[in-house]
Amino acid sequence: MQILPTSDRVTIVAHATTARSACPSCGVASPRVHSYYVRTLADLPWQGRVAALQIRARRFRCANADCQRQVFAERLPEMAGPWARRSERLAEAQRHIGLALGGAAGTRLATRLAMPVSGPTLLRLVATTKLPASPPPRVIGIDEWAWRRGLNYGTIVCDLERQQTVELLPDRNAETVATWLRQHPSVEVIARDRSSVFGRAIREGAPDATEVADRWHLLHNLGDALWAAIGRHRGAVAAALTVVDTPPGTPAQEAPRVIGTTGPTLDALRRQRSDERQARYTAMRRLHEESVPARLIAPALGMSQRTVERWLTAGGAPEHRRPPVASMLDPFRRFLEQRWAADGLTASGYRGLGSEIDYVKVGDELQMFGRGGDYLV
Ligand SMILES: [Zn+2]
Repeated sequence: MQILPTSDRVTIVAHATTARSACPSCGVASPRVHSYYVRTLADLPWQGRVAALQIRARRFRCANADCQRQVFAERLPEMAGPWARRSERLAEAQRHIGLALGGAAGTRLATRLAMPVSGPTLLRLVATTKLPASPPPRVIGIDEWAWRRGLNYGTIVCDLERQQTVELLPDRNAETVATWLRQHPSVEVIARDRSSVFGRAIREGAPDATEVADRWHLLHNLGDALWAAIGRHRGAVAAALTVVDTPPGTPAQEAPRVIGTTGPTLDALRRQRSDERQARYTAMRRLHEESVPARLIAPALGMSQRTVERWLTAGGAPEHRRPPVASMLDPFRRFLEQRWAADGLTASGYRGLGSEIDYVKVGDELQMFGRGGDYLV
């Protein structure tokens, strides 16, 4: 072995010390050296200098007369793969840099650390990272997933028991999903949306699996069904509520089921919120006149900096107005008011339908928010 240092590089000249090498085709060890060649491997840096191994490698003749292969290059199993141009330990270090920083930034850091590598190579190293083995999934969820929103979509497969993504399929075709399911016979339960595509994929790829609707899609379906069912009888519901609204003392045909309103009414809540906003604006204005910057006013008032700037520009808190269109919720407004009073649901939010999925927000209008966008109930 020989070490050849220069100001910024170190070259280590070395050779394998084993007398024999095993043929990669038949596995028989051969002592018969055919020829020599020089193999260069980039290696981990030495004292801040770029290091390379210059290996005097051998070609061997296969000792097995029945083997197809006559000559083979000796393998360096613990050092590097057969065609690799970097040692395994350097590849490992560069792979970690790539995982942490990606191509361009990774290249800059690796060069600074005397392990120069190009961006594309770094990304290739990242792409060949072996994923930790995970047990075969039993309960999965499949859904659409955007490689680029609005442009192209793939399919995401999640292990719902381990809460891990197990696969990103390149498209959202039934055939692709069915093929994946056939390759994963361990799947017993599949949560999916209403898409007929996934339904078909499951029938083809995992006909014995139990299909379930996930919570979000279940609520979404329920909302649609309610919309269709109640929408048809809107006139009748409005007429029924007119009876409830009849002032006491008015003779009625039959005693209506009067829903109590012991708590604050929507109008009272609205006034209260308006007063609160006004108070906030006054405080904001005062701080602003004391030359406190918006970025400091925002945390003090529990608002975003953008809102503070908007209010200051507008010269006041914006007044929220109810949209002129009648809401589907109008028939239930009184019922909801009663619920706020009785159950202490706050006027600003209700988060009861699912931890991360939907909630009904009561501002000036009532809205249900879902992951797929917000929609008015
Ligand atoms: Zn052989």
